[in-house]
Amino acid sequence: MKIIMLGAPGAGKGTQAKMLAEKYNIPHISTGDIFRANIKNGTELGKKAKTYMDAGQLVPDELVVDLVIDRFAEPDCENGYVLDGFPRTIPQAEALEAALAKIGEKVDYAIDVDVPDENIVNRMGGRRACVGCGATYHVVFNPTKVEGKCDKCGEDLILRDDDKPETVLNRLDVYHKQTQPLIDFYSGKGILKSVDGTKDMKEVFEAIVEILGA
Ligand code: ADP
Ligand code: AMP
Repeated sequence: MKIIMLGAPGAGKGTQAKMLAEKYNIPHISTGDIFRANIKNGTELGKKAKTYMDAGQLVPDELVVDLVIDRFAEPDCENGYVLDGFPRTIPQAEALEAALAKIGEKVDYAIDVDVPDENIVNRMGGRRACVGCGATYHVVFNPTKVEGKCDKCGEDLILRDDDKPETVLNRLDVYHKQTQPLIDFYSGKGILKSVDGTKDMKEVFEAIVEILGA
């Protein structure tokens, strides 16, 4: 099963993608996580990506597309994957479509996690990410057992630089201009499904599973 998660930054794509990956036993491929890992490891790609990410801008398509397409060659992608944060522009969606068409495949579902802008700033201001394993929490909606420490690995939690309010507004603007058109793109392909992302995490998950089937 090949699934794309769509939605504004902070809508809950990553939260849902992790649960879907576990349920359907497919990898969760997050371009944001890949870039953050590259930044942490000090790679050339990480250095290039960081300037865009810190400004709340998208990393240029040419730095993203091959990275994702190459990832599909890994053996864990044999039964599909859940893409989180990719595609984010029409050219990325077209490149994905073309790469899959070459091997006679296509995306099965594009799931739009719909959350209005008013809720997004709160969501992202309260998001905390683990510096060790990358797990995400929310200070109100999904708190850790011990404040400031990851439940899974015990490392410290941080507020991502790009989750600070001034950058969030930029990212929302970028989302509306560059990523939201993908909703029409996938609707036109007949594979778009929308879920109400303002519900609690469990309810959102149940709605997605109902769409995908057991
Ligand atoms: P995205 O991957 O779309 O940027 P995340 O999955 O990281 O978003 O979620 C953003 C923040 O909102 C996180 O702190 C997460 O714990 C929280 N969150 C996710 N889904 C919900 C939900 N349904 N209700 C409330 N908070 C949520
Ligand atoms: P995310 O973790 O998905 O919120 O992504 C964090 C940041 O990484 C984004 O604000 C972009 O700067 C960059 N990024 C992640 N995925 C992509 C993509 N598909 N295209 C361009 N930039 C991306």
